[in-house]
Parts: sequence; C-alpha cells; structure tokens
Amino acid sequence: MSERTSDVVLSVKNLHVSFYTNRRCNKVLRGVSFDIRRGRTLCVVGESGCGKSVTANAILRLLPELSRIEQGSVSYWQEGGQEIRLDQLKKNGREMRALRGKDIAIIFQDPMTALNPVYTVGRQIREMIRQHRRGMSRRELKRESVRGLAAMGIPAADIRDGEYPHQFSGGMRQRAMIAMAMSCNPRILLADEPTTALDVTIQAQILDLMKKIQQEEGMSILLITHDLGVVAEMCSRVIVMYAGEIVEEAPVDILFNHPSHPYTIGLIASVPKLGSGVKVLPSIPGSVPDLSMLPKGCRFAPRCKYATERCHNEEPSLFEVSPQQKCRCWLAEPTGKEDK
Ligand code: SF4
Repeated sequence: MSERTSDVVLSVKNLHVSFYTNRRCNKVLRGVSFDIRRGRTLCVVGESGCGKSVTANAILRLLPELSRIEQGSVSYWQEGGQEIRLDQLKKNGREMRALRGKDIAIIFQDPMTALNPVYTVGRQIREMIRQHRRGMSRRELKRESVRGLAAMGIPAADIRDGEYPHQFSGGMRQRAMIAMAMSCNPRILLADEPTTALDVTIQAQILDLMKKIQQEEGMSILLITHDLGVVAEMCSRVIVMYAGEIVEEAPVDILFNHPSHPYTIGLIASVPKLGSGVKVLPSIPGSVPDLSMLPKGCRFAPRCKYATERCHNEEPSLFEVSPQQKCRCWLAEPTGKEDK
C-alpha cells in the first residue's frame, strides 16, 4: 500500500519505461513521479519526444509491444479508497479493461486515427457506454450518445450521431473524442494534446467545456500539452519534462513568475507577449537528444548556456527550491538537501 493524502486519486512513483528497438534500449521515462488530485488539473509540458504521451499511455498500460515498465508504480484509488496497482494488472486483462474508459478515460492526440473510420461516431460512443454501463436498451444507448454529442456543442447531434468520422471537421472529431471519453463519467481524464491543430476559437470552446465538466463532476485531469497558453488557462500544478525526466515541478503561478530550470526559462521566453515589442522571439538552441544516446551528466547540458563541467559529468537530482517547487539543475542545489 502507498502512503497518500486523501485527495490523491492517482499516484505515479519513480516510473521507468524503456522501448527496445533493433537491440537498442531507449530509456523513454526515467524516475517520473507525480500525484493527481481530486478535481484538479495537472499539466505536463515539454517538447515533442520528451515522454509526455508515454507517461499517459503507461498509466493505462497502452504502451507498444516492445516497451517495458522497468520499475516504479502507478497507484489508483477507487471511490471507496481501495488502492489498485495499475502497473501490476495484466495489460489487457479483465480488471484493466474494466477501469479503462470507466474510471480513467483518455483523449488521444489525433482523433482521426483514434476513431474507427468504418463505424459511425454514435456507434463508437455507444460501444464505450455498453461496455461499462450494462443493461441499457438500444434506445437508451442512442439517447446517451446523442446527449453526449449535444453536450459537446455539436449541432444537430441526432443527425451527426449517424455520421462517420470523415464527415466531421477536425474540431468536431475532437469533440466526439471528448464525448466518448466523458460518456462513462470517468474520475480521471488523461487529455493528450486535446486541442492541438485546432483553431483558437475551437480550442477555447473545448477547454471551457473540459473546465465546466470538471467543476460539475469533480473530475481530475492530466493535461498534456506543449502550449503554455493552455497551461496558464487550465492548470493548478505543472510538470515540465525533458528527455524522459521531470526537470521542474511547481504551481502554475510560481512556474510562470519564477521559473527555475533553464529549460523552463527558455520555454517561457519563447512565448510571444502582446505589446512587448520583441520582433524575434528567443529560442532554445539544438533539439531533444536521441534517447538511446543520452549525454552523460545533465540531459539538457548540450543546449544549456549555463552548463559547467560538472553539468557535463554529473546528473543533477530533483532539488527542492521551495516547499512547492522542485528543479533538476545544479544551479538549484540547496546546501546538502536533495530529493531524488
Ligand atoms: Fe544547465 Fe547545468 Fe542546470 Fe543542466 S544542471 S540545466 S546544464 S545549469
């Protein structure tokens, strides 16, 4: 049994995940730990390839065949307080399938590939409901799928219910995915870039919708994004990931006003600010390292303007900057105190 405070509904502890390809081992997650609290939104930010989606998929055991959870734990607490170790369940066993969609739902990044093109949108929503809310008649199922689409602001939901994914616009497909995810009133929603590639008005509508559902249902959200505007709008707490590790963790206001890690500082500096007069936005040089050939020492060192010899040789721990903020950087090292 894991220790927890009463409002924690999901806890990831020291999670290590590797992908094995062509006899190479890619350590895609290394020592990732965080808690998701009831009714709160935790954001995970970082560039593509930093391990955000793998983290969400690892929670629901949706990782590809050639991957392995090397160590760590994922604990989920049910309504009555019973702990379930998701990392110990069979990937596609009865218990895991019973939890997926009902207790913990996921919105995938690309709705076009996540939705089945040969079934109508309504049928796919009904299939989700049928699996977890047994005993409903066909008419009741139909009423529920139409209600779900209407709740997502899809006009003429009764007609749209009978249409195929290719007949929906990008924004409507995303809403259909959310309708499907919400159809069984999950306690936790894992939203993987739910507004990527949508125009700003649709993005605002979808985020408002998620907030409304969260307030009404007390749902917890793990929101994965690379968009700091979305973070500011949605989150209470933020995790910044880089090359498979958490490099900074803080409440949203502290992260924006007092970022501590050079990577976070670079990310925030690269966001355009209205009226700032800046013509060319600063960028972080270089790119995320190949996970099979990680640098020795700090993973960010090849791109960091503050890197010293120590950074290239010794890996920093996740240091406590303040009781609410942690940072994986030697510059944040307190005197003799660290939190691995
Ligand atoms: Fe930069 Fe060194 Fe901090 Fe890494 S440990 S982020 S290289 S200053």
